[in-house]
Formats: sequence, structure tokens, C-alpha cells
Amino acid sequence: SLSGKTALVTGSTSGIGLGIACALAAQGANIVFNGFGDAADIARLQEETAKEFGVRTVHHNADMSKPAEIEAMMAFATEQFGGVDVLVNNAGIQYVANVDEFPVEKWDAIIAINLTSAFHTTRLALPAMKRKNWGRIINLASAHGLVGSAGKSAYVAAKHGLVGLTKVTALETARTGVTVNAICPGFVLTPLVQKQVDDRAAKDGLSNDAAKHALLADKQPSGDFVTPEQLGGLAVFLCSAAANEVRGAAWNVDGGWVAQ
Ligand code: NAD
Repeated sequence: SLSGKTALVTGSTSGIGLGIACALAAQGANIVFNGFGDAADIARLQEETAKEFGVRTVHHNADMSKPAEIEAMMAFATEQFGGVDVLVNNAGIQYVANVDEFPVEKWDAIIAINLTSAFHTTRLALPAMKRKNWGRIINLASAHGLVGSAGKSAYVAAKHGLVGLTKVTALETARTGVTVNAICPGFVLTPLVQKQVDDRAAKDGLSNDAAKHALLADKQPSGDFVTPEQLGGLAVFLCSAAANEVRGAAWNVDGGWVAQ
């Protein structure tokens, strides 16, 4: 049980981050939500999660591309709960274009949000985790942290970087009760992937369903999307005592994508 512990999940107002935040709340963790969205929707999300699982929830809208806002979010978590026990670095964006046509500002934003933000949250969360001699850092990488795909230079570079950060942080904490691991999902049907489905439908003149199948057929042998609930289940396992010696792993949950 994570009762009495606090989990901060970046980018948890949608998709995978939301799935993981709910799974951790179901284990009794208080939740620091982060991410963008309609203020009333976010307030409702906070309230419903708190009520359903009997935990305390707060939200901080720090922009993960801005180090000063990340520092403010981490200070807020400490002020609210005395620290962060479970840090899930999940916020991320995607942009698809070939490298010689890749917009420079998109490259910078993807590296900042998908990679550098995890450096900042990690460096700020670790001292208190080490003092307590317990902590969990879970980095949402991707199958694209392990293999490449055309058109995704910034994303693949950021996710490979995040797997590298995971390994080094795991080594530096290996003799403590803090573990650091990466989760590497294949396609999950969130707004981030629906945009790629829409682009595929427009490009090939396909229906929404046919475009989903085409996207999966290219990469994911199972032909099924991974779900946020499945990823929440893995996060809960990584937080358990059974995972005390799982360190520096980059665990694919990808319908067979990287086995090919
Ligand atoms: P999503 O678009 O549904 O959710 C992204 C979340 O991040 C939202 O809460 C959004 O508000 C937040 N966010 C975006 N930019 C932010 C910023 N600058 N500062 C703070 N929050 C910000 O996406 P998702 O598919 O749930 O993706 C979550 C993570 O999982 C990402 O890191 C993504 O790369 C990774 N991932 C997704 C898939 C997939 O197929 N969907 C596969 C592998 C990995």
C-alpha cells in the first residue's frame, strides 16, 4: 500500500499520466497532479479522485519546459505533503517531420518537456527520498526510447536520453531504498496518438478505424493498443516491495513492438 505516501505525476491531466495517477491513488497515495487543461475539469478530476480513493489531491500547473516553474511545483509538493515519495516523469509531446524539415522550436520544446524536465524533477526530489531511504522514480519513456522511427527525431532522441538518465540515476541510488526505472509503452490511444491517427486518415484517405489499424499494423504486432490502466498496473508493481531490486530497467509494454 502507498497509504501516507505522495505521488507527483507530471502531465497527469490526460492519458497515461492520468491512468497512472489513478492507479497510485487506488493504492492510497496522495496525488500532486500536473498538466494543462480546463480549470473546472481539473478541479473536478482532483475532487473525484480524492473522493473515490480517500486520498488528498492537489494540482500545480507548472510548464515542464520552464525550470523555474518546475522548481515552484516541487516546492509546492513539499509544502503540501512534506515531499514526493513517488515521482512519475510522464509529461510529453510529439511532433512528426523529417529531420531536415524539423522546426527548431519544436525540437527545443520536445527535448525540454520530454527529457530535461525529468532531470529537474529528479534532482529536486532525490535529496528527500535519500533522507527517507525510500523512493520511486518512474520515467515514461517509450518503445521510441529503445528503437527509432522515421519522422520522430526529437522524440526518439529525447526518449533514448530519458532511458539513459534512468540508468545513471539508478546506478547513483543503487545502494539506497530509491529505485529508478523507465516504462516503454507502444501505442496507447491518447490525444497524443489520436493526432497521428487523424494525420494518417487524412494522408491515406482512411476512416478513423482503418487509420488506427494501419498505425498499429506498422509497429505493434498484437494489433491492440496498450491501455493507461495496464501502465498503471506496472507503476504499482514498481512501487511495491517485490520490485525493490528492479533498478535501471527500461520495461517495454508494447504489444511486441521492440521484439521484432
Ligand atoms: P497526452 O497528450 O494524453 O497527455 C500529455 C499530458 O502532458 C497532458 O496532461 C498535458 O497537459 C501534459 N503536458 C503537455 N505539455 C506539458 C508541459 N509543457 N508542461 C506540463 N504538462 C504538459 O499524452 P500521453 O499519450 O498520455 O503521453 C504521456 C507520456 O507517455 C508522454 O511522455 C509520451 O511521450 C509517453 N508515451 C505515449 C505513448 C502513446 O502511445 N500515447 C507511447 C509511449 C510513450
